[in-house]
Amino acid sequence: MAMERSAGGVIFHGGLYLLLKYGWGHWGFVKGNIEKGETEEEAFFREAEEEAGLPRNTLKIIDGFKEKISYFYKKEGKTIFKEVIYFLVESFSMDVRLSYEHTDYAWLKYEDAINKITYDGDKKILMKANQFLNEK
Ligand code: ATP
Repeated sequence: MAMERSAGGVIFHGGLYLLLKYGWGHWGFVKGNIEKGETEEEAFFREAEEEAGLPRNTLKIIDGFKEKISYFYKKEGKTIFKEVIYFLVESFSMDVRLSYEHTDYAWLKYEDAINKITYDGDKKILMKANQFLNEK
């Protein structure tokens, strides 16, 4: 079975979390495929710049948080097994510039973000991220 690995981030600024609307229709976090020879962190930073226009020097990965989700989806009739690694990332900028891959974005308070996120796997990641930040 085909497999994909992506790296993404629960990006926050102040008390707000960044969500993107994917061309497929769902709302979720910044993420993208890990390319050959790239570390998970490098893939995340590249995607944050490509998808949201957030440069690396405006982002800080928070130590101690790294979570994984997995799901199956169908592409051109083939089943794909996908794993996504999520970091928790502070952004010093709210200046998002979307690429063609996404149709909208929002900076939302925790409760609003939980309601907006489409998939349960991603909701769970946000719950863990929010709890982690509250306990820090
Ligand atoms: P990437 O952002 O990693 O480059 P992509 O643009 O291909 O990936 P995905 O978000 O992985 O997009 O979406 C591919 C398919 O998987 C879509 O049909 C989407 O609805 C579905 N999908 C996305 N996230 C999840 C999830 N957490 N659980 C189940 N299905 C999901």
